[in-house]
Amino acid sequence: MSDAPTHSIAARLARRILLYASACALLIGGVQTLHLSQEVRQRFSQSIEAAGLTHVPLLSVAVWDIEPDTIRRQLHQLASQHAIGHVRLVTDVGRVFEAGDPDARDFTEARRFDVPNPTLQGEPIGTLEIVADTRAFYRELATTIGVGLLGYAVLTLLMCGLVLVALRRELGPLRHIAEFVKTLSPERLTTPLTVDRGPRHQRDEIDLVVEGFEILQRGIDSHIRNLDHQVAARTHDLEAALASIRTLSTTDTLTGCFNRRLFDERIADEVERADRYGRPLSIVFADADHFKRINDTWGHNAGDEVLRAFSASLKAQVRDHIDWVVRYGGEEFVIVLPETTLDRARALAERIRVVVESEPLTIDDRPIRLTASFGVAQYAPGEALADWIDRADKWLYLAKEQGRNRVCG
Ligand code: GH3
Ligand code: MG
Ligand code: MG
Repeated sequence: MSDAPTHSIAARLARRILLYASACALLIGGVQTLHLSQEVRQRFSQSIEAAGLTHVPLLSVAVWDIEPDTIRRQLHQLASQHAIGHVRLVTDVGRVFEAGDPDARDFTEARRFDVPNPTLQGEPIGTLEIVADTRAFYRELATTIGVGLLGYAVLTLLMCGLVLVALRRELGPLRHIAEFVKTLSPERLTTPLTVDRGPRHQRDEIDLVVEGFEILQRGIDSHIRNLDHQVAARTHDLEAALASIRTLSTTDTLTGCFNRRLFDERIADEVERADRYGRPLSIVFADADHFKRINDTWGHNAGDEVLRAFSASLKAQVRDHIDWVVRYGGEEFVIVLPETTLDRARALAERIRVVVESEPLTIDDRPIRLTASFGVAQYAPGEALADWIDRADKWLYLAKEQGRNRVCG
């Protein structure tokens, strides 16, 4: 986000308008100056023309009658006129009369009038020269242009002020929208944007922004909801996949018993619990007798079925959620019996042995007889875990040694 300071669009636009209007006023002022200077010049030469024509007949009489005072008075009167700076009358006998501002005494651009003979016959009896008052000319020009420019300046400032007020009023809602947007957060995303602009008959860009914003709000909201659903669905799928992975990683696929990995993880906890509360804990090693023969005689698939049936017998005889049956490896299983003394463990093993021996399995419509040997050991408080398991394994070995289909421990 930019750290640049915020300036109102209305003030910036008003400044621009002021700048452009000033440039336009200067341009127009320049053109108008040219035009006005011609106009003022024309006005001056018209009034010099009119003054000359008015005074020439009077001067004609005065020169003819040789009345120098009258001539001088006439010339003074003439020179006192607004547009006239200096006047000179040269008679045909070479007499010169002058009046007016000596500074304006430059006859190069003077307007010349012939002073005729009053009888209107014969040659002119003198020449009247009138020089325009340049200072008055520029004064008048400056006043005319100044008034024009002042008018423009007042108009421009007035327009800029009005535009600024109008822009402030029109663009006010934009600031409101910006402040509203700043307060939005993911939790407040659906807060409606309300812009009070009074009763209006037409829509403009600000209405379009408000409408667009509402559409955007709805779109983002529905997108977030959709994402929430997707995340929930994915989380559910992941949890299911995790549960299935967890089950797969702790369960033997052939028999559905726990696997060796789970045994290694959990047996230490059972031992700790037994130690802490001083409770009995026993294990039974159960191994199918001559299982190799079953495989050899009936085939490996039949052997698998026998293993499934054997493990089912084991599970059927133990307590749900308390005892747990582990496929320790191949055709060898371990039953962990919490809260169980050696006697009770031996009794359970014997019960299983009898069931296995007495209930022949029917695999592919063929009766298969199976026996199993058992090694039983109760955990002795403080005993090393490996020693305890070793003891049970040794009892199993002994059971095998003593002819199989028996319980030792
Ligand atoms: P013992 O009475 O001394 O235990 O003899 P046994 O034949 O049962 O023992 P041994 O260790 O000699 O042979 C075990 C056999 O179990 C060999 C192996 O092929 C078979 N076996 C191990 N796991 C599986 C299995 O998952 N499926 C099948 N079908 N056979 C298995
Ligand atoms: Mg065996
Ligand atoms: Mg074995």
